[in-house]
Amino acid sequence: MEKKPVDLRSDTVTKPTPGMRKAMAEAEVGDDVMGEDPTINRLQARAAELFGREAALYVPSGTMGNQTCIKVHTRPGQAIIGEADCHIFGHECGMYAQFSGAVPLMINTQRGFFSAQEVAAFITPPDVHVAPIGLVLVENTHNMKGGGVYPQAQLDEVAQFAHSKGISVHMDGARVFNASVASGRPVSKITQGVDSIMFCFSKGLGAPVGSMIVGKRDFIEEARAVRKKLGGGMRQAGILAAACLYALDHHVERLADDHAHAKLLEKTLQGLGMTVDPVETNIVFFTMQQPNAEEVVNKLQGEGVLCFAITPRRIRLVTHLDVGREDVLRACEALKRVLR
Ligand SMILES: *Cc1c(COP(=O)(O)O)cnc(C)c1O
Repeated sequence: MEKKPVDLRSDTVTKPTPGMRKAMAEAEVGDDVMGEDPTINRLQARAAELFGREAALYVPSGTMGNQTCIKVHTRPGQAIIGEADCHIFGHECGMYAQFSGAVPLMINTQRGFFSAQEVAAFITPPDVHVAPIGLVLVENTHNMKGGGVYPQAQLDEVAQFAHSKGISVHMDGARVFNASVASGRPVSKITQGVDSIMFCFSKGLGAPVGSMIVGKRDFIEEARAVRKKLGGGMRQAGILAAACLYALDHHVERLADDHAHAKLLEKTLQGLGMTVDPVETNIVFFTMQQPNAEEVVNKLQGEGVLCFAITPRRIRLVTHLDVGREDVLRACEALKRVLR
């Protein structure tokens, strides 16, 4: 019998486990637009507490979470500083420009992490010719630059510097729990310097739907209005929140398995003479000598391994809840057959 392919395309492909589905089936629900869904309220309170913040807001997707935060932080015509390959600039449909009227100021980096000095380079004396800076964006872990964890001292310095200039800082923490498990630092500590955080339940945590915005109470109240404008007001969404609560209880510590699996893939690729980005969490990037990444992806598919070519030379593998050790070993064998 043909075995199910090993799906390393993204950590979004996970399906709810039986335990998670049971929690969903049993969830108490109400109308969340009216603030009456007890499970949503429980999840939001739990998230606020985990991050040591005043309040939190459940949103349907990470994109809606990020864009809602940008809208609340900025005025049209302001500039936002972020890493050149961050998700907000590259994979959210240019919505920062369409919805918030924001102008991007990009910093190109090796691993996705910039310094306070690099932010300082954009600060000019008051000048009528220049778009005022409204926000600094950080991404942790950084998806497209290899899944690394933002060096904490550098991150804290960026936030401190931005605040000294009266500029707020937002963290796209889609995978901040991966950063936490990899570094051993609680999420409250990792995010201590920033003003708002978005994190995803639908990535490594393995829930089917949803992300969270965390921040100050008045910020979250403004965000609630923006969410409604975007059509993100949900009704008996407690059924989804139950999956997220289940994920917080059962799927955080196990992220260490995904990281170990990614390390295994890294070692195999290195053994094959490939150039691999240093693996820190659940994302593995390797770079081809020739622009034949698409062809390699097709061959791997033939060998029962699914993944994406992110550029003509770069391939990304992502480990997650639905990829066990056996699957990873199968993927390693397939890599050997295709790349040798
Ligand atoms: C997946 C992801 C998001 C949010 O994506 P959605 O598909 O809208 O939930 C945001 N930032 C990063 C870094 C991501 O990887």
